[in-house]
Amino acid sequence: MHPNRIALVTGASRGIGRAIAVSLAKCRLDLVLNYAGNESAAQETRKQVMGLGVQGAVVQADVSSAADRNKLVEFIRSEFGRLDVLVNNAGVAPKVRSDLLESSEESFDRLISTNLKGPFFLTQAVAKWMLELRESVPDYSPAIVNISSISAYTSSPNRGDYCLSKAGISMMTKLYADRLAEFGIPVFEIRPGVIATDMTAGVSAKYDKLIQEGLTPIRRWGRVEDVGKAVEAIVSGHFPFSTGEVFNVDGGFHMRRL
Ligand code: NAP
Repeated sequence: MHPNRIALVTGASRGIGRAIAVSLAKCRLDLVLNYAGNESAAQETRKQVMGLGVQGAVVQADVSSAADRNKLVEFIRSEFGRLDVLVNNAGVAPKVRSDLLESSEESFDRLISTNLKGPFFLTQAVAKWMLELRESVPDYSPAIVNISSISAYTSSPNRGDYCLSKAGISMMTKLYADRLAEFGIPVFEIRPGVIATDMTAGVSAKYDKLIQEGLTPIRRWGRVEDVGKAVEAIVSGHFPFSTGEVFNVDGGFHMRRL
């Protein structure tokens, strides 16, 4: 069995997922870096984590596909024989933002499959394996972290499918946290706010203006490292009596203000 802790980060090729991978590398975890289609970006993440002195394995898998999820878990099983941390980060925005009254079933299916069904069943497979591993790995200290969004509780009627998928991730966090707590497997949710990545690049002018006008008490764009640091804090074991917890990484967006 592999001697070091192993973390799987889905969607680790770019944006928030890459920053999470780099943060975990700083915590000395070896990494399995999943991506969907952008292999060169995934290799760049691998280069960055290896530069920090840990191992990095790149695995293509579409999290919305049962066969691909199976391939991903089987790869980690045969290559490393253990998995300590799962970060469900991979996610997509709608291809086009469209009003709730016009939005399509096709977009709904794509968003729910990738952002909710995929993470749900990947977590199921990994959790079952973690239950086995706790019997055999000395000092096993597992954790599952789900990346949701402020969209989990904020209505945006021009991307209702995205909001629903993220609200689902919030409930998924509670469900797995409840089910796995007695076995020492904590499950956490991180709710990023507006973070500068490819996902928000197309709407950057809109958010520039909103942030300038005071959308968030902390008046700046979120950085991918802000989310990476939150994952690092969780995985470092500083919350031993917590599970099902929500970490807002949003510049204070979640507060009601007057
Ligand atoms: P991004 O820059 O668009 O990167 C998306 C990542 O997910 C890429 O690594 C992509 O892989 C991967 N991915 C997409 N579909 C996949 C699939 N079917 N299977 C496996 N991997 C897949 O997005 P981001 O902004 O970093 O977002 C990361 C997560 O944070 C998402 O869940 C998103 O909803 C959430 N979030 C983002 C923000 C924000 O403001 N940016 C705010 C709140 C929450 P490829 O490179 O191979 O395409």
